[in-house]
Amino acid sequence: MQRAVFLDRDGVINQSPPRGHYVLNRSEFNFKEGIGELLKYLQDQGFLLFVVTNQACVGRGLLTGHDLRNIHTWMSLSLSAKYKVFLDEIFYCPHQPTDGCICRKPEVGMIMDAVKKHGVSLEHSWMIGDSLNDIVAGKRAGTKTILIEESDGKNTRKENKEERPDFRVNSLLEITKIIQ
Ligand SMILES: [Mg+2]
Ligand SMILES: [Zn+2]
Repeated sequence: MQRAVFLDRDGVINQSPPRGHYVLNRSEFNFKEGIGELLKYLQDQGFLLFVVTNQACVGRGLLTGHDLRNIHTWMSLSLSAKYKVFLDEIFYCPHQPTDGCICRKPEVGMIMDAVKKHGVSLEHSWMIGDSLNDIVAGKRAGTKTILIEESDGKNTRKENKEERPDFRVNSLLEITKIIQ
């Protein structure tokens, strides 16, 4: 069994677009400071690396699945070329909240796909995200969870018990002190 880190995309790997907006092409995709170094650290610790991202922009017809996968291919190639980081797989949910699918976080469908395909031990794995839906998905699946809290007050709403992360950080760098 392998241990893994599940990463939300927007707000973790790249700077989050404003609420209600989406990254629709490469020019809108800006890597976050320190993400390459963090992923390299996690890879060197022996973790599999999975991206699990809600992209309702596909279901809304703003971006095709093909174009989204092209952005992801470019993202992966950028990380491997610059940091020697190799993402094991990128999972995305193309559905809208009203579709009632089993993959859109806080549902656990994407995480469970990774478990089935790659033999992941969830209790030795982590979910990192910047929204409470990421935290709930991680907790429901049985991983440990880290919430990235930005200074823009995105997560200032008081969370209930199911939404409470194991750890909170203000920067990606802090994660290397938590996951060892
Ligand atoms: Mg996010
Ligand atoms: Zn879905």
